[in-house]
Amino acid sequence: TPATDCQPSLRDRARHSLRHFLADFTQLEREYPHTYPKSILRAEGAYVYDEAGHRLLDAGTHLGACQIGHGSAEVAERIARQVKRLEFIALDGGISHPYAVALAQRLAGMVLCDDPIFSFTNSGSESNELAFKIARQYHRRRGQPQRVKILSRVGSYHGSTYAAAAATGVAAFKEGFGPLPEGFIQGAQPSPGRCGQCGPSDACSMACFDAFSRTVENEGPATVAAIIAEPVAIPQAVKVPHPEYFTRLRKFCDHHGILLIIDEVVCGFGRTGKMFGAEHFGVRGDIVTYAKGLTSGYVPMGAVAVSRRVEEVFKDSPLLHLNTYAGHPVACEAAMAVLDITERDGLVAHAARMQAVLRRELERMQAGVPRVRHLCVIGLLSSTLADISDQADPDATVRKVRKLAYDHGLLVRISRDGALLGAHFYPPLVVSEADIVSGVKALGQALEAI
Ligand code: PLP
Repeated sequence: TPATDCQPSLRDRARHSLRHFLADFTQLEREYPHTYPKSILRAEGAYVYDEAGHRLLDAGTHLGACQIGHGSAEVAERIARQVKRLEFIALDGGISHPYAVALAQRLAGMVLCDDPIFSFTNSGSESNELAFKIARQYHRRRGQPQRVKILSRVGSYHGSTYAAAAATGVAAFKEGFGPLPEGFIQGAQPSPGRCGQCGPSDACSMACFDAFSRTVENEGPATVAAIIAEPVAIPQAVKVPHPEYFTRLRKFCDHHGILLIIDEVVCGFGRTGKMFGAEHFGVRGDIVTYAKGLTSGYVPMGAVAVSRRVEEVFKDSPLLHLNTYAGHPVACEAAMAVLDITERDGLVAHAARMQAVLRRELERMQAGVPRVRHLCVIGLLSSTLADISDQADPDATVRKVRKLAYDHGLLVRISRDGALLGAHFYPPLVVSEADIVSGVKALGQALEAI
């Protein structure tokens, strides 16, 4: 399919614009002259189209935001209607609007948080920042100002702003930015089949939980404001915890008076084959954070659900936290449209059904590509780890695999963790069985070629 009517000049413009645009194209351009940057000009469903007219399965370049598929005319029309009706008004000084109220009411009936009240943000990082502020103020207002620490897990990602980065358990995202905010500490993460302590996941003894609770105990539970955890963490590899992990974590938090923040930024809105990742574990958060799938990336938006029990302490004197675009009417309408489509088209059940297809195809690929060491799949979220210890320049190998996948019609997230190459394959929830078959085949071809 021809991509657009303005291809050649756009490619040139994109290349020239590198001088004024901060992005990581330059190394790729040096290695593959006249090839990068690739410009994506349009998208539809699970596919995007570049400036040369190539059609690519988008299995990750949306970073987990795209749930309902690209290019929905229905969402576009509703966004346009909202712009004409009320494009923006800030939720401030006693002013509200029905679009934020209606969205909060709808979400309240869905989320795993007791009788929640919502604040809206513009991203996952902002949602987590707000969650940390709420947690610290909650304890301060209850006469426990020493409870300031935020515990998270190694191998978790919570965002790029300062506190969210401080809570992130991946060193590369923090190095060179210090000093980071104080009071952020990381403990052990579940990593079934890879933790080196329990062996295969079916024999998991939750040694990770014991190690994590020891970290909290060493810090002093009475100094801890909150523990933040994603239902399924994804950096380096997708990590699905033992079915009892969150039951134990919830009990541990309650026992020590620590708030539990669940980060649903990636898992939320169907990605794992349930509407929310926490549903796999039956766990309810005191505070729950969202973004990405909330609007399926059509416009930026995040949200924070706060349980009534926590909210009670802010009743007489609200938290002073201003965010100009919080509850942006256009984002609210986009979220409503995305929820309508998700429910009407049964996308969460579809993602759950596609899990078996994705697993089957990845296992088939693994059988043919010996360097593949580890697979993990939940819903339409997956990771493949390949051994690249034989590669002279592992970073160049990462770039090569990315390029080869692209050449085979696949946009997939490729990263490196030491001698392992990680491929995160997580397409929009509208993906078909045939799309998964051809997409995984492309990934296999790229991995085979190295
Ligand atoms: N939390 C999780 C689990 C994420 O995966 C991300 C982003 O990938 C974030 C938070 C930060 O979200 P954003 O990039 O919208 O700030």
